[in-house]
Amino acid sequence: MRTVDVVIVGASLSAAAAAKRLVDAGLETVILERRELPRHKICSGILSPRGHRFLLENFGPLPREILHEPVSCRGVTFHFPSMVSLPMDFFGGTTPHLHRKYSDYWAIRRSGAEVHDQTSFAGLEDHGSHVIVHARKHGEPIEYRARQVIGADGPSSLVTRAIHPDYPQSIPWFFVGQKFHDIIDCPLDEQYFHFWFHPGLGHYTWSHARDGRQIVGVGFKRGDNFAQKQQNVVNYLADKHAVKLGPPQDDEGCAENFGPSLINRYVFGKGNVLITGQAAGFLNMIGEGMSCALHSGAICGEAVVEARLRNRPVQEMYRRMISSEVRRTTDQWNPLKIAFDRPHEADFPAALMALERRDRVKVLRDIWRFVVLYKEFKWGRQMAMAALQRPLLGGYSMRHWL
Ligand SMILES: Cc1cc2nc3c(=O)[nH]c(=O)nc-3n(C[C@H](O)[C@H](O)[C@H](O)COP(=O)(O)OP(=O)(O)OC[C@H]3O[C@@H](n4cnc5c(N)ncnc54)[C@H](O)[C@@H]3O)c2cc1C
Repeated sequence: MRTVDVVIVGASLSAAAAAKRLVDAGLETVILERRELPRHKICSGILSPRGHRFLLENFGPLPREILHEPVSCRGVTFHFPSMVSLPMDFFGGTTPHLHRKYSDYWAIRRSGAEVHDQTSFAGLEDHGSHVIVHARKHGEPIEYRARQVIGADGPSSLVTRAIHPDYPQSIPWFFVGQKFHDIIDCPLDEQYFHFWFHPGLGHYTWSHARDGRQIVGVGFKRGDNFAQKQQNVVNYLADKHAVKLGPPQDDEGCAENFGPSLINRYVFGKGNVLITGQAAGFLNMIGEGMSCALHSGAICGEAVVEARLRNRPVQEMYRRMISSEVRRTTDQWNPLKIAFDRPHEADFPAALMALERRDRVKVLRDIWRFVVLYKEFKWGRQMAMAALQRPLLGGYSMRHWL
């Protein structure tokens, strides 16, 4: 059995950030990844300015091979049923368009941690002084002994299920799927990620250019017909935006734990097991998760180092240190913060004010209808209320954190 200081499960961005802190502090760190590296990751790859700064500061300049075409993104454009479009540039200029297969592998290698790929986490036993991790490599059982374990294994985290089997039932889940189309003619500006606030299309609808093709994606509930919903969006784009696409070449989808950040159901671990990244519930508005994966991962790694230095329980340290990231993520959903502050990394209030007064009214009406009247968006309403009440009632309470 291999004995190390820390085992991290999942070789993604949160893992790379956590590993960087641990390795820099001299801790022997092994990352387990179930797939063969470099591995595919379903993601649009639009990095926020904060995520970009994190990568530069921690891992150095980004090589061209870890980027898609177009190599950069200027911001996000919101489209509304009233046919007003609202382009919003990122603060501080364009950001890189990451090719997750290669960017994650690059960051993982630059963290300096040892990586065991094709090794799936299967379970753990926390004995207080150490944790035994059960994994499978090429189908064969393999064990590790570590002082701490970090679950950086994404939305369907098995590490979280190992310590809180009921957690998945306590949070909202939904599915996202996307298809890749050849482009016949596409007037949507390829420098932006496009998002539709349209109840007739779905609660989460997007499109953007990648490597000469157009991605059209849609969120859906269990039992919905993905192909039909996606075709509905393709038809809408043709009808309203004159987007002419060929038949889809590929498609992919996954389940998303969208919403823990809003209903304060973050999960940070138990005993010597810590959870971070999207597994912990970090996901910003419009599904941007890389920046909070990186930052929460780094905080998680730092918490392990601090707990050892100060001889304090690691959970106490992690929960204290992670509160800044909780506040930042939750603020993104707070309507008051959106109206009067700048919780996002693209300037929504400025873009709104740049519209003619008539269009501004249309946009506000469309957003209201989308959030308040859209019957499928039950969770959205509860979440918006929760996010609104939290600062008004004086707390980013840790009450609901696990
Ligand atoms: C369609 C789509 C588009 C998105 N677009 C964007 C975007 O444009 N910008 C953005 O910022 N975010 C986007 N996101 C969100 C973003 O991809 C995630 O929030 C982010 O990748 C989370 O990072 P993570 O490090 O927490 O985990 P993940 O990236 O989910 O990685 C988890 C890793 O753990 C591994 N793993 C899982 N289980 C095991 C196991 N049992 N044993 C070993 N390894 C395991 C996985 O293989 C994976 O490598 C998008 C998500 C989706 C689904």
